[in-house]
Amino acid sequence: EMFNQIQELRGNVRVFCRVRPPSPRETSEASASICLETLPDAATVHLRLGPEKSSSYAFNRVFSQESTQEDVFGEVSGLVQSALDGYNVCLFSYGQTGSGKTHTMLGGSDATSRGIIPRAVEKVVEASKINEVKGWSYTLKASYVEIYNETIRDLLSTVGHSDTTHKIIHENGSTTISGVTTAIVESVEQANVLVRKAAGARKVEATQMNAHSSRSHAVFILHVSGEHASSGTRMEGVLNLVDLAGSERVSRSGASGERLKEACSINKSLSSLGDVFAALASKAKHVPYRNSKLTYLLAPCLGGDGKTLMFVNVSPEEDSSEETSCSLRFAEKVN
Ligand code: ADP
Ligand code: MG
Repeated sequence: EMFNQIQELRGNVRVFCRVRPPSPRETSEASASICLETLPDAATVHLRLGPEKSSSYAFNRVFSQESTQEDVFGEVSGLVQSALDGYNVCLFSYGQTGSGKTHTMLGGSDATSRGIIPRAVEKVVEASKINEVKGWSYTLKASYVEIYNETIRDLLSTVGHSDTTHKIIHENGSTTISGVTTAIVESVEQANVLVRKAAGARKVEATQMNAHSSRSHAVFILHVSGEHASSGTRMEGVLNLVDLAGSERVSRSGASGERLKEACSINKSLSSLGDVFAALASKAKHVPYRNSKLTYLLAPCLGGDGKTLMFVNVSPEEDSSEETSCSLRFAEKVN
C-alpha cells in the first residue's frame, strides 16, 4: 500500500496540502483575486505574492479546490487503518482560521460533506468487524479533548465544565489522560453521536477574522486494542485526529489583553510543534516533546515508529496570501 511504501523510504511525517474553494462573496463585491495555483499531479502549489514574485512548494500530495471529502479520505484510509495493526497514528490540520481545517477533519453532517473523523471511525469499526472473522476481537474507546491555553478540557464530559486537572500519562507503551471520559464505540451511529456532541462543546469565540474562529486544539482520540483468540497476540494502536487552532499571527486578528494571552499560548504550542518537527527532520538527539501539552500527548505518533500526516489547509485568495505563505513555509519544513 502506497502510504506505507513512502513511509519506509522517508521517515514518519507526511504533509498533504489542501486548497479550499474561494468563499462566496457579497454580490456587490467583485470576485476575489486568486493567488494560488495547484498542480496536483506534480504535488506542487504556486503562490503569487506580487507582480514579479512567486514561490513553489512541494508536498507529498496536493488537493485542489475541486477535491471532495471522499477523494481526501481515499488518500488517508490506509494510514487510518494502520491503527488496527498497532501503530500510533496522528493526522493534523494546520492553517489560518477559515482555511478549511474543520471542514477537512469534521466536515458537515451529511454523507457527502462529512470529514475525516466520522469516516475514519466508520472505517476502523468496519475493518475491525472484518478482522473478527480471522479470530481478532477489538475494543474501541474514544475520547475527545480540547487543549486551550495549555489546559486540557474533556469534551465528552457529562458534567459540563469542571476544574479537574487532566494529566497526560505515558505508561507501558500506551498514552492516557487522567480523568478524561472514554466512551466504548461499538457502532458507527454511536461514534457519530459522540463526535457531534464534542464538536458542539468546542470553545469558539468571535475574533475580527472569523465569527466562529476556533481558539483551541481539538483532539479526537480512538484507542484500538485487539486480541487474537487462538494465539493470544495483543495489539494496541491509537488514532489521533487533530483540528489545530488557527495559525494566524496575533496582530492580524487584533488581539489584546486576555485574547493576546490566549493567542500567545496558542502560538506557543504551534511553535513547539514546529520545533518538534524540526528536531525530527534533522535527526536531533533531543526532541522537545515536553514543551507543550500537544506535542507531549502526540509524542508516540511523532517519533519512534509512529505515523504522522499533516494537512496544511490554505485559502486561494489574494487577501490571505501572507498567511498562506507562512503556512506553506511552515509545512514545507516539516518533511
Ligand atoms: P477553519 O476550521 O480552518 O477555520 P473551516 O473548515 O471552518 O475553516 O472553513 C471555512 C469555511 O470554508 C467553512 O464555511 C467551510 O465549510 C468552507 N470550506 C472549507 N474548505 C472547504 C472545501 N474544501 N470545500 C467547500 N467548502 C469548504
Ligand atoms: Mg475550525
